[in-house]
Formats: sequence, structure tokens, C-alpha cells
Amino acid sequence: MKTIKLFTMSLVATIFATGCDPSDAENQGLENESQEFSLEEGAFNSTIKTNKYRGFTIRIDENVPERIIDITKAQIDEMYNSKLKRSTIKKMREVNAIVLISNEDNSLNDLLYEGFSREVILSKHNVFKVFDRRENINLVLHELTHFYDQVQFPNGGILNDRLLELYRSARRNKVYPRDSKILQTKFEYIATAVEAYFAVGSTTREPFNKASLIEKDPELAKFIEANF
Ligand SMILES: [Zn+2]
Repeated sequence: MKTIKLFTMSLVATIFATGCDPSDAENQGLENESQEFSLEEGAFNSTIKTNKYRGFTIRIDENVPERIIDITKAQIDEMYNSKLKRSTIKKMREVNAIVLISNEDNSLNDLLYEGFSREVILSKHNVFKVFDRRENINLVLHELTHFYDQVQFPNGGILNDRLLELYRSARRNKVYPRDSKILQTKFEYIATAVEAYFAVGSTTREPFNKASLIEKDPELAKFIEANF
């Protein structure tokens, strides 16, 4: 039932992500709660299983290949192995679900955080695409950062205002190339910086890694250090 909200996602102004690291995850620990949903509306007609992995709820459509599930789990593992605070991961676990979908229907072909249903949507096609480009970007962390940003730094809040100020300053001072993802919106500014800050090695897009972020945009690095 809840995944029917997928159909609303095109209404939301968001927020695309790319890339990840091709490390091979052990296929373990994904406990199946044997809870199933049957979606019978619109073009998307598939069975979704709800699982838990390390505290995250993951909904998986029956046509999603094992490899996509493995990538998702490996990226969650990477978050736990990173310097992200446990309290941050705990907050991120409050996302309603990470939804893995096959995308025979192109309307579902997306990577995004969907604010109405509070779900991270990762489509099979796009996950493969960015994974195969070897951009070394943790998709799951990027999208969960969109969720965390909206929950922790709400509009009108002091931290949101601070982030907005840093974003505007980065644009004004041409800290990054004008067409780079990180300068697209305030939302991408924080999500793309977080993915680089906690990356194992470097990503393929600005600001690439923690050292480079500290050098180019030290106040944003401090913001992440304090709030993630
Ligand atoms: Zn994004």
C-alpha cells in the first residue's frame, strides 16, 4: 500500500544521485520479515518484500536482482564503518524505507529521496548505471542525507539558515565549478559534500573527498563535522 506513494514522487522537486563503489558485499544479514505487499495500481504491478538490514527498512520488488540488494547492503555497511556518528545513523534509520525497484516502467526510474512518503527510492537501472561508471559514490548515504537534512535542519531553523548561508557563499565565491552537482541546490550542496566527506577514497565529482572539502570549503567541512 505504502509504495503506491511512489506515484507521487514525480511531483516532488528533487534530487538525483549518482554513483557508488563496486565492492562486493557478503550476502548476509538481510532478514526477511516475510511481509508482502501487492501493488495493483497503475502500471507498476509487483510484489514488494519488506526486510530489515542493520536497522534500516528495505522494500524490495521481486524483480530486483541480488546484485542491487548487495550494493545497497554494502553501502549501509560503509556508513557504519565510516566516521558518521551513531546518533546520525540512528536518525537516518527513521526514514520510512529504502525502496529498491526494478524499472520496466520508466516513471519509476529514479534515485531520490521522496519527501511525502519519506522513502529513499533506488531504481535498478540507475543503480546499475552509476555503479558501473564506478563513481565511488555512496548512493544510500547521499539519499539518506536528503532525508536527514530535511528532518534535522528544517526550514527556518538555525542550522538550515547556516547551511543556506554556506551554500550562497560557495556560489558567490565560485568555490566549485558553476555547473557542478554540489552547486545545484542547497540540498545537493549538503548531500554531495557529505558523500565526499565520508567516502572511502575519492568520488568522481566535487568535492571528491574530505581533504579537498576541508581545503576548498572549510566552513562546510566544519558544519558536517559538527552535525553528522
Ligand atoms: Zn541528491
